[in-house]
Amino acid sequence: MTTFVFDNTFARELPQAYVSQSPAPVRSPRLLFFNRALADELGLDPAALDSPEGAAIFAGSQIPDGAQPLAQAYAGHQFGGFSPQLGDGRALLLGEVIDRQGVRRDIALKGSGRTPFSRGGDGKAAVGPMLREALVSESVHALGIPTTRALAVAATGESVLRDRRLPGAVLTRVAASHLRVGTLQFFAAQRRLDVLRQVADYAIARHDPALASEPDRYLALLRAVARRQASLIAQWMNVGFLHGVMNTDNMTLSGETIDYGPCAFIEAYDPRAVFSSIDTAGRYAFANQPLIARWNLARLAEALLPLIAESDDEAAIRRAVDDVMVVIDAFPGWYDAQWRDGQRAKLGLAGPGGAETAALADDWLALLHANAVDFTLAWRALSAAAGGDEAPLRARVGDTQTLDAWLVRWRRACAAEDAAGIGDPAPRAQRMRTVNPLIIARNQQVERALAAASDDDDLGPFDRLMAAVRRPFDDDPALASFAEPAAADVTARYQTFCGT
Ligand code: AMP
Ligand code: MG
Repeated sequence: MTTFVFDNTFARELPQAYVSQSPAPVRSPRLLFFNRALADELGLDPAALDSPEGAAIFAGSQIPDGAQPLAQAYAGHQFGGFSPQLGDGRALLLGEVIDRQGVRRDIALKGSGRTPFSRGGDGKAAVGPMLREALVSESVHALGIPTTRALAVAATGESVLRDRRLPGAVLTRVAASHLRVGTLQFFAAQRRLDVLRQVADYAIARHDPALASEPDRYLALLRAVARRQASLIAQWMNVGFLHGVMNTDNMTLSGETIDYGPCAFIEAYDPRAVFSSIDTAGRYAFANQPLIARWNLARLAEALLPLIAESDDEAAIRRAVDDVMVVIDAFPGWYDAQWRDGQRAKLGLAGPGGAETAALADDWLALLHANAVDFTLAWRALSAAAGGDEAPLRARVGDTQTLDAWLVRWRRACAAEDAAGIGDPAPRAQRMRTVNPLIIARNQQVERALAAASDDDDLGPFDRLMAAVRRPFDDDPALASFAEPAAADVTARYQTFCGT
């Protein structure tokens, strides 16, 4: 039976960028999660895949017709230190399909066994972390933020050894591509400039085809990736998403969020928030994300430099360095513009903004920080305040005086826009509810759902939470419990772990 219609450009065009590798067959494949909506978007037959045959494919036991499973090579800076060889140690690209919109998408397995890049690892994954990736990535997607997607999670019927024995699973990941900053770093570090060029050209063909004929196409690629990352990180910051492990191998060229390991949504607002157990120095703290993105882009610039310089004489290299630095130095401004645009929409303002609006947003965040207010619910409560109901906001912010003073300024800004006829005619509160979510994948609820699935084989809590995070902007009383933050001490103690 044909399940996927594969057309595998990566396998065909970049033979030096991967190692062919079959997934390891598993004992008893069983579907824990199947994303019907995504299957439909990909032009697949959901009924055919939501089946024992589908489970066998998604667990890695059966290779679908037309797939060419392979492990991609990549390098990466991890916590600032360069690892020249990482690569897919527990993931395999099965191939590419063209979705209903005509977009090429990668279909890959994660947790499908050892590869030549596995080093000391077992190549496997546990049920908990794979369901976690499915939940959080679906939440990020529902919030309108670019991300890799989870098509399926299949239990293997085998156990994996972590700090204890855990049930094993394989995740099927869908991505615009799996090209990372680290993919280019791999070939640049080895000075294999011919392959570096092939991979960069492949990236351009896939993500920026309009640049293919530009004379400075590699510089243009850097600029395009930087712009996408500016937009992505701004969106993370405006929903309180903390990636947790922004190594260069976990940053895509496509601008999609990738690698849901130690990520978490922040609750009580704290720009210094860190949840990852291994990020002891706070390198990837919430407020550092735009800075780290820029740092990573500087590493991308270094990798592309040999292609950007017309020759390897000193003057040409100096010119290329100047050119890439223009992009790297522009990044904070691009990020800021996107972040401020998002903030203004969240404040219910539609004008071009300026120093005063920026100060209004900064003071709002300072108010949330000082009072340890839940980030998501504060914005949602502000939407209610726009409709005349200040009670939810007052219930969350303890400091009445500062809040009162801030609300006066905010109402003045809103009134000024209304008087000038700026903005959508739809009521402000309604507009704000479309950009200030009520429901995110909350840490404590995610953990509970994963524990039920992993420890008790009970998928009920996972299914209910999944259904809720898919409707982040809906005011449905039936979903109210999913909007509840954890107690402050739970959030303060909350730790996440890399999904190995
Ligand atoms: P990550 O922390 O998921 O970004 O992974 C960093 C590197 O470690 C990548 O090269 C992964 O393929 C590899 N890796 C992570 N977990 C495992 C595992 N269980 N077995 C083998 N390699 C792994
Ligand atoms: Mg990774």
